[in-house]
Amino acid sequence: MTVYKAGDIIPRVKAAVIGLRPAGAQEVPLPTACPNCGGEINKDQERWRCAKGTGCALPALIEYAAGRDMLDIDGLGRTYVNALIESGDVTDVADLFTLTEEQLTAASGSAKRGAKLAEQIAAARSRPLSRVFCALGVLGTGRSMSRRIAAHFGTMDAVRQADASEMQEVEGIGPEKAPVIVEQVASLARVIDKLAAAGVNMTEPRQPQAAAEGPLAGRTVVVTGKMSGPLADMGRSEVNALVEKAGGRAASSVNSKTTYLVCAPSANGKPSSKAVKAAELGVTVLTPEAFAELVSDCLG
Ligand SMILES: [Zn+2]
Repeated sequence: MTVYKAGDIIPRVKAAVIGLRPAGAQEVPLPTACPNCGGEINKDQERWRCAKGTGCALPALIEYAAGRDMLDIDGLGRTYVNALIESGDVTDVADLFTLTEEQLTAASGSAKRGAKLAEQIAAARSRPLSRVFCALGVLGTGRSMSRRIAAHFGTMDAVRQADASEMQEVEGIGPEKAPVIVEQVASLARVIDKLAAAGVNMTEPRQPQAAAEGPLAGRTVVVTGKMSGPLADMGRSEVNALVEKAGGRAASSVNSKTTYLVCAPSANGKPSSKAVKAAELGVTVLTPEAFAELVSDCLG
């Protein structure tokens, strides 16, 4: 085929060069049904889509949203989710919160299960923002990223108002990911409005006051390498937990926000890349022993 530059960056297929086609070439069959749900394909535009639109992935999304790490609606598995979608009672995540006990009874086939589900859904209304946000299924925001977004912004309104540069203030969100998240949050406006109208919690509880007052309050700490001294038996995640217990923030990479790098002097005289970065940025490097001393009140 020949390809030419049609617009700014998107190349356009012009024609097949049949003379260059190898003898054993096989025809590529075009899909006749949506590969995801087996339903009809919408061919109105050059880019084909499932005729169901976002509804195509709806059962998987609703099941994900009800999961233990998200809204934690115990008992709401795929079978009942499918029944609720088929009856038209659920067209998005927010519809879960306006279901009646009768609708849940019909979907689950038992009044007892319907009542139990209604109870679970009522409890799910007060989940923290991090879980509610995670339940939206925004691309690139799993459990821990949703926690960081919720902790950073505090409220759903603040998340919605953030532009790409503000989104990048969240650790782990770079210039490529930020605009994608902002765009997806904007496209979910109707669903988020419905969730709020249904009384679903839209705020993240503040960190306990005690943690903000520890010896590491307001400090960001990166832990690397093998620990020694009083911390010798601890793995990195345990030391990170200790950082948080002492009121600090545990981070994984050294940058201008880093207060301390905790790392033992290298055994072979060659400093680690994190130690080199810390030296470049003038970040204070603490030995595991010195760090243990600093947080001694929180040890044991
Ligand atoms: Zn489909």
